[in-house]
Amino acid sequence: MIPAPFDYVRADSVDDAIARLREDPEGKLLAGGHSLLPAMKLRLARPSTLIDIGRLRDLAYIREDGDRVAIGALTRHHDVATSELLRQACPIVAHAASVVGDPQVRHVGTIGGSCAHGDPAGDLPSVLLALEAEFVARGPSGERTIPASGFFTSLFETALAPDEVLTEIRVPRTSGGWAYLKFNRRAIDWAIVGVAAVRANGGVRVGLTNMGLTPLRATGVEEAIASGADPAAAAARADEGTAPPADAFASDEYRRELAKVLVRRALEQVLA
Ligand SMILES: Cc1cc2nc3c(=O)[nH]c(=O)nc-3n(C[C@H](O)[C@H](O)[C@H](O)COP(=O)(O)OP(=O)(O)OC[C@H]3O[C@@H](n4cnc5c(N)ncnc54)[C@H](O)[C@@H]3O)c2cc1C
Repeated sequence: MIPAPFDYVRADSVDDAIARLREDPEGKLLAGGHSLLPAMKLRLARPSTLIDIGRLRDLAYIREDGDRVAIGALTRHHDVATSELLRQACPIVAHAASVVGDPQVRHVGTIGGSCAHGDPAGDLPSVLLALEAEFVARGPSGERTIPASGFFTSLFETALAPDEVLTEIRVPRTSGGWAYLKFNRRAIDWAIVGVAAVRANGGVRVGLTNMGLTPLRATGVEEAIASGADPAAAAARADEGTAPPADAFASDEYRRELAKVLVRRALEQVLA
């Protein structure tokens, strides 16, 4: 498939990218291009200008930031997956990045692109939701921080304004158990369903991949665990408040059952 015609410019800084987004409201940022270019080839996206931020190396980093770890938006999945700092301080993020697509996708796709794209089937978003990560966005009027609970707003939509650039994602250091269970037919496929679980503040937080229009928190499960339910009883509430899609890979009923099985396994792992 061939995309609709577009212009291409390379931004030489975040401010330059913001200025170019303001110049052309139909323009779109290009990071790794592994979600945007397929969408353009299918003509689901028709940006008039591609504003390439893929070479802004100062947005590719992983560093300590007090009790958090700061990850630059242009950090490639491979670098997240192999980061010693993340493996020590927040291993679920490194693990989730290691199960994204295949090596080619992981060497080109970025964590910022995965989040800004707002795909509920993406692996990192549900993990970041369970971690209560923070998203840093920069726009014409400066920088703001968006909590994960308010970042993913609808299908392929986020709280980012059209002229904002996602610059950083901050994840908390974790010391308790964690699990990210991704169910797919082949190792390189997207998740049919994914479940992220982390211990935090004496409880467990659970995120769901591909169970609705956005990544979701399984709040019924979290409440059940807080009230003393065992993993099997808590997992029975995994599909509460979800609206899983039905597609060629699975029906919505199958996804609901799968979510319950994966949540039980994730809870058993986290609470062991
Ligand atoms: C074959 C294949 C298999 C894949 N499998 C998986 C998988 O199993 N799991 C998974 O999670 N993902 C998977 N992906 C998607 C992959 O993770 C993408 O890299 C990711 O979703 C998008 O990152 P990107 O850097 O390529 O973003 P791009 O495609 O460049 O951009 C995506 C969207 O985000 C916007 N954007 C990008 N960066 C920013 C920013 N810093 N600020 C604001 N907006 C921004 C762009 O304008 C665009 O709208 C797969 C992709 C392919 C091609």
